[in-house]
Amino acid sequence: VTVYVGVDVGGSKVLAAVVSPSGEVVRSVMARTPGRLVQASAVEDVLTDAVRAVSGGETIEAVGVAAAGFVDPAGERVVFAPHLPWRGEDLRARLAERWDTPVVLANDANCAAVAEAAYGAADPDGLGVVVTMGTGIGGAILLDGRVLRGHNGMAGEFGHMQLVPDGEPCECGGRGCWEQYSSGTALIRFARARLGHEPSVLAEACDGDPDQLTGAMVTAAAADGDLVARKAFASVGEWLGVGLANLVAALDPHFIVVGGGVSAAGNRLLDPARAELGRCVVGAGHREVPPVVAAALGPAAGAVGAAELARRSGQAH
Ligand SMILES: [Zn+2]
Repeated sequence: VTVYVGVDVGGSKVLAAVVSPSGEVVRSVMARTPGRLVQASAVEDVLTDAVRAVSGGETIEAVGVAAAGFVDPAGERVVFAPHLPWRGEDLRARLAERWDTPVVLANDANCAAVAEAAYGAADPDGLGVVVTMGTGIGGAILLDGRVLRGHNGMAGEFGHMQLVPDGEPCECGGRGCWEQYSSGTALIRFARARLGHEPSVLAEACDGDPDQLTGAMVTAAAADGDLVARKAFASVGEWLGVGLANLVAALDPHFIVVGGGVSAAGNRLLDPARAELGRCVVGAGHREVPPVVAAALGPAAGAVGAAELARRSGQAH
């Protein structure tokens, strides 16, 4: 049996999945990303272990790597990654040699967009925007099912649009980036700032150590009715809507898909985003506002899309 593997490398998590030819996750393995202050090879070690574990001894036909970073137009190098130690790494060739298998490298949000257009919530026709919310915000622009890559291959890095002059510092080196207000990082920061001031089940969930707080804890607490967690989602959702209004002003898309780990909260995230988008989009009341829908493939979209690109690349030869 030969299989295609997709590996999504985010700022916090690595998800490796064996993906069927119809886009289904057959099995998956999750690992923690070592962070950005380590050797680049430490991340590659984690990827290698995850790919080995998920393949279960089956022969791998090809691996697609979805990287949370800027990938060059040739798909060879990660030029820069705000949340990972990769700076101009020749990642594709290095992993292909190490794994002795063909490797395809692409931006993680672009992979998610490919998957959503092929199997999920993105319309395969027309102009659409895909936003992925994890540690940061990733994005992609879809035109008739194809990802617009841009001159440097860096189109769709919406997370680093400046929304707040002199705002929160960002790992990209800038300040006030959208993802500092609307992402898993923003969700945790919001909740953390209120612990000790307002009662919350999150104090117990993190064993009294706010540094241990995770996005999954905030999501679970919000579902249980915790007010701090719910306010955190309301804030992150509102900021999501503000950024989306800017994207609608720039691109006038006919659909918006929101994926990534934070989108697991569904309408708790999307309802405040829709309300804010409707309120501050240019020409409100005089235009169609595009629907904002959750990614159908959920947090696995990046891995599914990476495997899909690996499969297509194999067929092209
Ligand atoms: Zn930034």
